[in-house]
Amino acid sequence: MQNLALAGAAGALGQTAAQGTFTLPPLPFAYDALEPHVSARTLQFHHDKHHATYVANLNAAVAKHPELAKRTVEDLIAKPDALPADARTAIRNNGGGHANHSFYWQCLRRPGEAGPRGELARAIEKRFGAIDKFKEEMNKAAVGVFGSGYGWLVLDEKQELAVVGLPNQETPLSRGHVPLLTVDVWEHAYYLDYQNRRADHLNAIWNIVNWDFVAEQYRKGRA
Ligand code: MN
Repeated sequence: MQNLALAGAAGALGQTAAQGTFTLPPLPFAYDALEPHVSARTLQFHHDKHHATYVANLNAAVAKHPELAKRTVEDLIAKPDALPADARTAIRNNGGGHANHSFYWQCLRRPGEAGPRGELARAIEKRFGAIDKFKEEMNKAAVGVFGSGYGWLVLDEKQELAVVGLPNQETPLSRGHVPLLTVDVWEHAYYLDYQNRRADHLNAIWNIVNWDFVAEQYRKGRA
């Protein structure tokens, strides 16, 4: 874990300015912090193996393009059409995998904390009718992703709250949307704990959402 701790000191998404390469950020909580909703075993594989592989493959993809390695991963994936053709697919998939997982970890925290409050709670109630209605919409979008992907709460181009399901490692950033909250529905996110029961996993996630982080993204997105 020492390497992870060092990587975390490098920057918001673990990009080291010195080497221009991307690094795996540490989890912002202990492996067992999300139990019983997400097990330590799932997090060990999900972060240390799956997320780490996206970072390694992203570094391989930008190795021949040193100018790209100086940019943030969000900047790279926001405009995939502007990427060099020989690296575009690899950066979309692995840059997306790196950015989406880094964002996802920050959306989670240990159970027992408060739900959405203040301005964000009022905005969700106004847009969806109630917090529980919003959760239903989000679950529906995430369950409805065919194959692998994520459910997202975003600020859309009109600065309105919107729920979308996106496949694979697609990012709301490439649509000009501001991500506020995401739920990973790749099987690796839940299979050890819930097997095929994606809906059970989604219901459990509501116990461990970091609403302070979501509210901060909302505030920044509206500023
Ligand atoms: Mn994942």
